[in-house]
Amino acid sequence: MTKSPFITLEQAEQLANQFPTPFHLYDEKGIREKARALNKAFSWNKGFKEYFAVKATPTPAILKIFQEEGCGVDCSSYVELLMSQKMGFTGEDIMFSSNNTPASEYQFASELGGIINLDAYEDLAFVKGSLGGKLPETMSCRFNPGGVFAMGTDIMDHPEESKFGMTKDQLIQAFKEMKTEGVKHFGIHSFLASNTVTNDYYPTLAKQLFELAVEVVAETGVHLEFINLSGGVGVDYRPEQTANDILAIGEGVRRVYEEVLTPAGLGEVKLYTELGRFMTAPHGLILTKVLHRKETYRTYIGVDASAVNLMRPAFYGAYHHLTNLSSKSSQTEVVDVVGSLCENNDKFAVNRELPETEIGDLLVIHDTGAHGFSMGYQYNAKLRSAEILLQEDGTPRLIRRAETPEDYLSTVVGFDFDL
Ligand SMILES: *Cc1c(COP(=O)(O)O)cnc(C)c1O
Repeated sequence: MTKSPFITLEQAEQLANQFPTPFHLYDEKGIREKARALNKAFSWNKGFKEYFAVKATPTPAILKIFQEEGCGVDCSSYVELLMSQKMGFTGEDIMFSSNNTPASEYQFASELGGIINLDAYEDLAFVKGSLGGKLPETMSCRFNPGGVFAMGTDIMDHPEESKFGMTKDQLIQAFKEMKTEGVKHFGIHSFLASNTVTNDYYPTLAKQLFELAVEVVAETGVHLEFINLSGGVGVDYRPEQTANDILAIGEGVRRVYEEVLTPAGLGEVKLYTELGRFMTAPHGLILTKVLHRKETYRTYIGVDASAVNLMRPAFYGAYHHLTNLSSKSSQTEVVDVVGSLCENNDKFAVNRELPETEIGDLLVIHDTGAHGFSMGYQYNAKLRSAEILLQEDGTPRLIRRAETPEDYLSTVVGFDFDL
């Protein structure tokens, strides 16, 4: 089983000549097609909007693409809000789905006219205090049903162990109080399982939320403007997995919408999504070069990328497919592909069968377009890599330069480094 990168060996060699490896590369065409497919899949719902989860790929050139495709942004911190503001997202193009939030961030989100999505019942009084006693006209609450969220056999998550969201009783209580406080338009949000690779996740979640919505509206009499299905639609990181089919997912949600919401007189409710991973993960890759081979009890392939460029394998043992673009060998070998950090979990692959690999080969680490660069860090005084956009016309554009030692040292106080 294999995966094809969105660049050829020839393109990779040209890129590696122009930009030092390792770097993150994004495929503009793929990202645009994904946004269009999502919008098409939900076009049956008037008012549908994707709020791209900024934390997945917080890079202005990527946000701009989503803006051009009609998407908003889902922010969770001050700088995400600031970046969105600078890029011209305003008002209800901004969803603020944060938790454990400082007052200053609620104030900023409110100044921008963004929709505040409350994570906790207790946040209601806090937000009111933060905003000088007056709540915005549109607000949303994040629901956590508790228990276990199970679908068939393979997908399961444990909302009862999740720090996010509020109980049904709290949500109803919050809506009643918000209504008294002058909130006019309401939303319900929930995020129950991460990286699901099944067309049934959104429809299953939607059914639960739609039934909740009917009950909540009956009990509180609020105007429910939207239901936010949030993130969680995943990608096929492993070659043997089948990619989610967004058209089938949209159709599955439509079916439960017509089954539950329409008959209850809620056929005008808008649907929102906050997808991150699904939108960008497959449309990004890391191009890295083999620097060393080492034989001990295993065979190690040392590449110039390390966990600072992609934390997921070290952090949660996540699988990322690897392609050796350069190897012409028909022989394979079983290897560990490692970075250079002084941490033994700095491994992109463990006991992986790859074509015979030589020093100087170019390797692609697949599906790094979301939660890749953004989870990066600087351990071992490693510098963050560049990000490059492969534009629709096939030419590369640098969209974030690599860090320099000066960047790394720029926040140090009390020492003058003459570099
Ligand atoms: C992380 C996150 C998302 C995006 O999740 P993906 O799995 O990347 O789609 C959306 N909404 C909220 C509130 C999140 O925290």
